[in-house]
Amino acid sequence: MPGELSIKNLSVSYGPVQALCDVSFDVPAGRVAALVGSNGAGKSTVLKSICGLVAPTSGTIEVDGETVAPRPGDALKLGVAMSPEGRRLFPRLSVEENLLMGAYTVSDQTARKTMLDRVFGYFPRVKERRRQMAGSLSGGEQQMVAIGRALMAQPKLLLLDEPSLGIAPIIVAELGKIITEINRDLGMTVLLVEQNANMALALAETGIVLETGSVMMTGTGQELLASPVVRAAYLGI
Ligand code: ATP
Repeated sequence: MPGELSIKNLSVSYGPVQALCDVSFDVPAGRVAALVGSNGAGKSTVLKSICGLVAPTSGTIEVDGETVAPRPGDALKLGVAMSPEGRRLFPRLSVEENLLMGAYTVSDQTARKTMLDRVFGYFPRVKERRRQMAGSLSGGEQQMVAIGRALMAQPKLLLLDEPSLGIAPIIVAELGKIITEINRDLGMTVLLVEQNANMALALAETGIVLETGSVMMTGTGQELLASPVVRAAYLGI
């Protein structure tokens, strides 16, 4: 399955605030990449730009060589799905209804059912709670539903915004394993945005460090984990 991402010279401003300045990086098809950086570095803005939710002042974003237009919905047509920060589930709908919302562009009923079974396979706890209202789930369980909902769109490129935020360390470790499995089984490209640099870089083949809107460093996850600069700034070592 393809899903190559190419970002070239991306700059984004919110009025007078320049959030991204000349950001360029590539994620080859089928890879797991981690975009790390501290608060306000611009990580969410990169994801929103890929989804066409904010319009760049300059630069281009391509998925498999096709330019993403700054219009909501355009990225989905190119095979991009995002699990947003803060999860944004429909709290009064059941877990299963939330998951099916993610598949509204998939018209083939059999494909929807297959994907739902896959999601339940990755997250057995979500399966047990499928009739419960999503708002009644724990933070970690809601995170699993949000990732499951993004998977339901059968994307080529899966964007995960801070999946470890507010989640117990043991669940973070479990989530990390599942993200690796999803990438391996389904072959989809994954871009993981995290303040938890340790978890993200340990999973990622490609790592990008963003600082105040610019790319500070790139390398393999292992190279960045070993870098004294990254260790001092992001890992507290
Ligand atoms: P965090 O980890 O805290 O979510 P982040 O790395 O995802 O941070 P962004 O949310 O992309 O960073 O924000 C980058 C910069 O753009 C910040 O200075 C932020 O205050 C600013 N910003 C983000 N959204 C808006 C907005 N809608 N209006 C004005 N400024 C914004």
